[in-house]
Amino acid sequence: MEKYKDVIQKQRLYFSKGETKELSFRISALEKLQKLIKTHEQDIMVALKEDLNKTEFDSYLTEIAVLIEEIKFTLKNIQKWAKPRKVKSSLSTFGSKSFIYPEPYGVTLIISPWNYPFQLAMAPLIGSIAAGNTAIIKPSELTPHTSALMANLIGEYFPEEYISVVEGGIEISDRLLAEKWDYIFFTGSVPVGRIIMQAAAKHLTPVTLELGGKSPAIVHEDAHLTHAAKRLVWGKFVNAGQTCVAPDYTYVHSNIKELFIAEVKKAIKDIYTSDPMETGNFTKIVSDKHFHRLTAFLNNGQLEYGGRTDTEKRMIEPTILNDISWSDPIMEDEIFGPILPILEYSDLDSIIMKIKDRPKPLALYLFTESDKVQEAVLKHISFGGGCINDTVLHLSSPHLPFGGVGDSGMGAYHGKGSFDIFSHEKSMLKQSTKFDLPFRYPSEKALNTIK
Ligand code: NAD
Repeated sequence: MEKYKDVIQKQRLYFSKGETKELSFRISALEKLQKLIKTHEQDIMVALKEDLNKTEFDSYLTEIAVLIEEIKFTLKNIQKWAKPRKVKSSLSTFGSKSFIYPEPYGVTLIISPWNYPFQLAMAPLIGSIAAGNTAIIKPSELTPHTSALMANLIGEYFPEEYISVVEGGIEISDRLLAEKWDYIFFTGSVPVGRIIMQAAAKHLTPVTLELGGKSPAIVHEDAHLTHAAKRLVWGKFVNAGQTCVAPDYTYVHSNIKELFIAEVKKAIKDIYTSDPMETGNFTKIVSDKHFHRLTAFLNNGQLEYGGRTDTEKRMIEPTILNDISWSDPIMEDEIFGPILPILEYSDLDSIIMKIKDRPKPLALYLFTESDKVQEAVLKHISFGGGCINDTVLHLSSPHLPFGGVGDSGMGAYHGKGSFDIFSHEKSMLKQSTKFDLPFRYPSEKALNTIK
């Protein structure tokens, strides 16, 4: 039998024994995961450097610190979340008490992408453990150092009948998807999200799909331009733009466009120096294929800033393309790289219509001081989540469920959201045996009474 099939069978058997459902067991598993991360911080950063040339600062902030915070938050709240909740009873259930019991689904599959290869594999695992499931993680094949490290560390800290990493690419992913799972949590692209959902449908397996898309940023004429530029530059160019919630493109009001672009250039130099490729402190593009896809966009619109590339290092410096329109190839799909297209607008309603006509974005960022503008955008455009006067940070709060809507995904996690998506809510009514109301049984008298 193939190894992964054996592990799935072992996990099924282990889950059925009930140990993973014990609260004390879940708490100790979360503490173990916390220890794994803290003890191997340096190893994780080395693997991320190998795979993506991430700086220590970026690796720590975006792949390690967020997980430590998430585990702390989960440990603080797990007792409350896991307890059966008493809810009201209705007149039709007079005499009874009603409860909701959160229970784990069973054997869960987590398929993760390459852009935050450690964080995006471990964050769903926190939810799966907290809810009392077993888990198999299939990391991305495009970040092999991080994938191998996770396989080794998880193997060292957890028995495979509880948590295991299965490494490999599309082929292994396909084979895993042919198996029956109790829950599938997928993070990745929209087209693969469709494949996952189709595979899950065969076994009626519930799914969370954390997908991507083109997330807009809107800079209105009354925005605080210095803060807007700096926050936008950070959100766009962190991880070389390979972030699911990176602002994909920017709509800038025509009255402030030139001033804003000047601020953006200044912010790039402040944060990344004038030559981040030379200093080497810039994330590289994950593969040659992705690199060539991105460099093909560099002749779209007007090159306003940057544009230099290094094929050997697979690096593209922070780049601004001005005078972009929707007919440019860069506007067709999610960019997922360090290239920021600028589109101009003068009428807010018309861009609201334009964004509404497109697939619902994973994120939206709006820079304005006006409550009216904020209200108009929030009221009319549906998107996963976002920020006003900032970028990306909404996903770092465990109090804000994070996920997409429509083409950008389904289901939301982080904090209690992670516990909830990995739990089935079992509704239970406990009836009294002290009396038995006659009206529920069919008779003419009962019908007249309940009418
Ligand atoms: P991807 O969809 O190519 O791959 C994701 C995972 O699916 C990998 O483990 C891969 O091996 C597997 N996979 C790829 N093709 C498959 C197939 N045909 N059948 C079965 N499995 C397959 O995504 P990616 O390139 O690794 O990541 C980038 C995408 O992920 C972007 O679209 C980005 O927006 C999105 N993303 C979303 C989030 C989020 O939280 N919403 C976070 C990060 C990335």
